[in-house]
Amino acid sequence: MAVAFNLSPAGLLGLAVVLGAAITVLVSGQARGSNDVADISAAADGPRAAEAPPFMKMLEVVPDPILVITGQDPDDLIDRRFIFANAAARDLFRITRDSGPLATAVRAPEVLEAVDEALFGKVTGEAVYQPGGAQDRVWRALAQPLPADGGDGRLALLFLRDETEVRRAERTRADFLANASHELRTPLASLAGFIETLRGHARQDEAARDKFLAIMQIQAERMRRLIEDLMSLSRIELNEHVPPLGRVDIGLAAIDVLDALGPIAAERCVSFKPSLPPRGVAVIAGDRDQILQVVQNLLENALKYSPTRGEVALDVRLDLDVAQAGAPRTPGAAYLSLLTPDHAAGLRYVALTVRDAGPGIAREHLPRLTERFYRVEGQKSGGERSGTGLGLAIVKHIMNRHRGGLMVESVEGAGAAFTAYFPVSPRIPVAVPGS
Ligand code: ADP
Repeated sequence: MAVAFNLSPAGLLGLAVVLGAAITVLVSGQARGSNDVADISAAADGPRAAEAPPFMKMLEVVPDPILVITGQDPDDLIDRRFIFANAAARDLFRITRDSGPLATAVRAPEVLEAVDEALFGKVTGEAVYQPGGAQDRVWRALAQPLPADGGDGRLALLFLRDETEVRRAERTRADFLANASHELRTPLASLAGFIETLRGHARQDEAARDKFLAIMQIQAERMRRLIEDLMSLSRIELNEHVPPLGRVDIGLAAIDVLDALGPIAAERCVSFKPSLPPRGVAVIAGDRDQILQVVQNLLENALKYSPTRGEVALDVRLDLDVAQAGAPRTPGAAYLSLLTPDHAAGLRYVALTVRDAGPGIAREHLPRLTERFYRVEGQKSGGERSGTGLGLAIVKHIMNRHRGGLMVESVEGAGAAFTAYFPVSPRIPVAVPGS
């Protein structure tokens, strides 16, 4: 029987009580010199072992490390012994036996202190355990006093929970807030500086005033874009697990965005080269506003990085399987899947590719493109329209909600191409990613 426990700290108490009976057997097993968990569990299960779940075997397969520890003398450090260690505990502490001196298994002083609190202070001890090493995992160790029947020894249960992912998520959130504030602080500081200058020595200088006001307008515009992007990212994240309900014609959505960006393209002397299917054939299940945003973010980037008189191609392809949709199409290009759909077997896809003839993106930057606030250093993007670094993060989240994929291709010095592909009918609910 495969049993997957997920014990809350509160649940520890319950486990502690249930463990009581088994512990009594364990301790007497120890007194008899038996170290065999199977023996002990058979004894603990008693005559009903055939029909009842074998208790110690259940503990053995709990995915969180669990140890049962005895101790008699608070002043004698070597008298702490573990009398049970499940498979996860043996794996974590690299021990081959399921009983022995505690110090041979656990060396972290803070964990040993927590155990002592449970053994001799009769309170729950808590510690953070970081074994180090390449995996860099973080564990929370909880030591709980256990009722010990008979004898003068004391008992404690040491339970560890892997908190690596939770902490990583916390750090990501904190980094995100720090980044967002930093990004907003820079234009704000610049605005405040210019206001001061205009009220001070530039007050009578008309030429300087015009110049400063123009810069201030750019900074204010930048702040507006940042706030808009942040708001839209948080809106998208909120409903990322809700599959979109509408029907969207990708070809028509592309035409709408091309029309809207026409004036900017003309201003930059960049021409669009669309290759779109007829109306009504590239229809997918989707959220129209979000799909417009995907096309707009990709086209805006292509425009931003295009040389003057450059060309931005946009094509939509139909009826592809997942491998075709996510395959590179530029010979010799560096390419990377930035998002690969799960459970894609059997689905057909519509793929939209935006291709420019700009500087491209060096291979080493490709994996980080969809990170929030990531911008390729030293890249010129037309000065005043410098980006927020959130555009591709937004695209990735929208594509995830649509159970689609995202792929980038790049030839340094010759251009970049981004392909967003959508399943024609996403049947499976969307999983929310960690990042
Ligand atoms: P931004 O708002 O800065 O454009 P994005 O998330 O859209 O943010 O893009 C992240 C970074 O990826 C950009 O800052 C740029 O360095 C790089 N990038 C995106 N699209 C292109 C492109 N078409 N050509 C070259 N570099 C690009």
